[in-house]
Amino acid sequence: MRFPIIAGNWKMNTTVAEAIELTGQVRKGISNGFSVEVVVCPPFISLAAVKEALKGTSIKLGAQNLYHEEKGAYTGEVSPLMIADLCEVVIVGHSERRQYFGETGEIVNRKISAALKAGLKPILCVGEQLEDNEAGQTAEVVTEQLRSSLEGISVSSDLVVAYEPIWAIGTGRAAHGKPVNETSAIIRRTLTELSNQEIAQGIRILYGGSVTAENIAEFLEQSEIDGALVGGASLKADQFISMVEQAEYIYFPNNPPTKDLIPW
Ligand code: PEP
Repeated sequence: MRFPIIAGNWKMNTTVAEAIELTGQVRKGISNGFSVEVVVCPPFISLAAVKEALKGTSIKLGAQNLYHEEKGAYTGEVSPLMIADLCEVVIVGHSERRQYFGETGEIVNRKISAALKAGLKPILCVGEQLEDNEAGQTAEVVTEQLRSSLEGISVSSDLVVAYEPIWAIGTGRAAHGKPVNETSAIIRRTLTELSNQEIAQGIRILYGGSVTAENIAEFLEQSEIDGALVGGASLKADQFISMVEQAEYIYFPNNPPTKDLIPW
């Protein structure tokens, strides 16, 4: 079975003090007895403080980006080794990085390779523009992104893929469970071609794009979706905790979390 992941991408939000505060609120609601893998991805500058604030919990820490070189004269960049010192997870190829910072498939490929080499679990983001979606090109776009991002890389189940339709990110216009499930099945088929069936079956595929506590169940109930990458709603502790609780109930109905550890 694939253990589900609920990951929060805080993007460029929270000062260090706010990140510590949010971490404190989140950890109060998430029991160590939960089987869902929970990841928070604060800005680089807060990683060390949030790591400290997460001590004693099973919540994992992730970065939002990395540079592909290990060290050297790359002013302003953060290396895989530095991130691996603090984190287990790193988001790679988020559409905002592709759109605003010119990340191409080739750059994403180098970053995935560097992340895996450093022992990090990369969350590789793929997703189509609205025009591609309306033109029925979703499968082609996403398959091409996967192929270029993973070319020459020995794919293992350390990889996580987040399918994030660009038109759904930060717009309040989430996709729907069924078409996302179909795209996730296409992603898994491509992963099978790039590795083998056993590895592809073990890779978690998340959905991202305006996920909230109100709509997450629609995605988690789908057979090919193994969790969510949550942006805006992960900045609200009650929303994020509710999403993790829902995942716990949906995936592990026979192992309900200890209710007295949940404040609502
Ligand atoms: C994201 O940043 O990956 C994301 C999905 O954002 P939002 O949930 O705000 O749409």
